[in-house]
Amino acid sequence: MGIEDLEKDSRVISFKQNLAIQELVDELRDKDTDPIKFRKGLNKLGRYMGYELSKTFDYTVIDIDTPVCPTKGVRISDKDNLVMINILRAAIPFIEGFYKVFPKARAGIISAWRGPAPESRISVEYVKVPKTTKEDIIMIGDPMLATGHTISRIIDEVKSRGDFKRIIVVAVISAPEGIREILAKHKDVEVVTAVIDEKLNEKNYIVPGLGDAGDRCFGEPIKK
Ligand code: URA
Repeated sequence: MGIEDLEKDSRVISFKQNLAIQELVDELRDKDTDPIKFRKGLNKLGRYMGYELSKTFDYTVIDIDTPVCPTKGVRISDKDNLVMINILRAAIPFIEGFYKVFPKARAGIISAWRGPAPESRISVEYVKVPKTTKEDIIMIGDPMLATGHTISRIIDEVKSRGDFKRIIVVAVISAPEGIREILAKHKDVEVVTAVIDEKLNEKNYIVPGLGDAGDRCFGEPIKK
């Protein structure tokens, strides 16, 4: 499946038509964007994408009395059943943005990382997620959806711990390879991404991408 086919898939939403979102992504791509601006940008993207995503949520029509007259309004019922899974470490500022839109969401934290290519071994070391039911929408946030192997493993972990109504992977930049991997391995999972980039390079970095999102947020860690 090419990028255009992925964009037509009903399980994939990209916000490439939203210029405010695109502009923020492009600020993050710039190698001269410093960590403070980078984290703020990710936070804003979480907020903007949260607003966009709420268009897909279930709601009820309610009665309201304005000071002038009775009228009808909406209440987003799905907002009561959201679980946000934060994948350490670059998802921290991104997910924080979603919380501004969905403050009642329950929190999950997972630490997972991928070793260097070509082995690209996945380690999942810390999993703390709330109990979920068939009412819940579980959003798994990671700014970069690269090969999709780590997220796919995380989806397995999440599914093994409870029921769900929807599982949505939320990413800023996705590689076509990663989206294809998720769609193939998990027929019941959706991918919501600000943009779909061209490809992965030989080190499994997204091209053009933005580099290592964790390092761009928090600086390069000491390698032991
Ligand atoms: N993770 C990152 O932070 N950047 C990439 O390009 C791919 C995975």
